[in-house]
Amino acid sequence: MKNLVRKNILALKPYSCARDEFKGEASVYLDANENPLNAPYNRYPDPLQWEVKNKISKIKRVAPEQIMLGNGSDEPIDLIYRIFCEPKEDNVVAIAPTYGMYGVCADINNVEYRSVPLNEDFTLDASKVLAATDAHTKVVWLCSPNNPSGNLLKKSEIEKILNNFNGIVVIDEAYVDFSSEYSWLNSLNKYPRLIVLQTFSKAWGLAAVRCGMAFASEEIIGFFNKVKYPYNINILTQRLVSEEIDQEDRKKEWVEMLLKQRAMLAEMLNQLPIVEKVYKSDANFLLTKVTDANGIYNYLVGKGIIVRNRNTVQLCGNCLRITVGTKEENETLIDALKAY
Ligand SMILES: *Cc1c(COP(=O)(O)O)cnc(C)c1O
Repeated sequence: MKNLVRKNILALKPYSCARDEFKGEASVYLDANENPLNAPYNRYPDPLQWEVKNKISKIKRVAPEQIMLGNGSDEPIDLIYRIFCEPKEDNVVAIAPTYGMYGVCADINNVEYRSVPLNEDFTLDASKVLAATDAHTKVVWLCSPNNPSGNLLKKSEIEKILNNFNGIVVIDEAYVDFSSEYSWLNSLNKYPRLIVLQTFSKAWGLAAVRCGMAFASEEIIGFFNKVKYPYNINILTQRLVSEEIDQEDRKKEWVEMLLKQRAMLAEMLNQLPIVEKVYKSDANFLLTKVTDANGIYNYLVGKGIIVRNRNTVQLCGNCLRITVGTKEENETLIDALKAY
């Protein structure tokens, strides 16, 4: 790990806030230059969000010390570059097509981003990913189920990467709730250089709240905590997420409903003459190959229906990425497509 972390981060003495120096209960707090009035918003929030993490720990069966919470998954994605990748010197390897933020954060941090295409059917070839790595590769980015293709990457291929690459392997599981097969959270203790990302933005219905999760070894989480803004998760988010976790059953009902709708939407799409292929999805969207993605996209915009045009994305020519909506929304889409 010492060889993977940037030297300045290894040597970093993190900012010590008042809430770090004194932990515990007291009756008079005069240590943080807060206003004594306007409770509870006058006080700085818990910098390590232990209450939320303890609840996440219970539902995910991961120790609270192995969890980092961020302003969406975007925050841990950026922090991974800042912790491990020396600008202009190190590189990362990612699959293509995949989520755009890995590449954007590489550019922001001035780190070389090496893109390895998936096979035509979006399956992963571990040997190609491994072949793209060299002594300066710090991170391999995987996303499973993958965005925008929607498929789960094969476990045995990911294992080849975990077993043969000596750097950090990130598996972004933003859509894991929609996939019945497996999560890599169960393998965290087996692979000390594995980071798993999940989020409250999709299945939990909390995209506006901005709360993402990174799961890793205590050592890696320690580096996240050193580098992140001290109070990165505000008290409103901490309280709301904590309350939402108490309603996990509701999330499970939503997922069930969306999975049913996903099957129905796929079936309806497959019956349309303008649809050439609906790719198998383990997520809450369907990558759909159509006869004319640009024309259909613009037509739908005219009807007030917005899907994602992925036509210019690698391996996604003439593809639209369609999020599964409510029954009514999906039917509105299908009716419009029938009239195209
Ligand atoms: C939507 C999505 C996320 C979620 O990002 P947040 O910043 O947590 O909202 C992360 N990864 C992938 C691949 C996504 O598609």
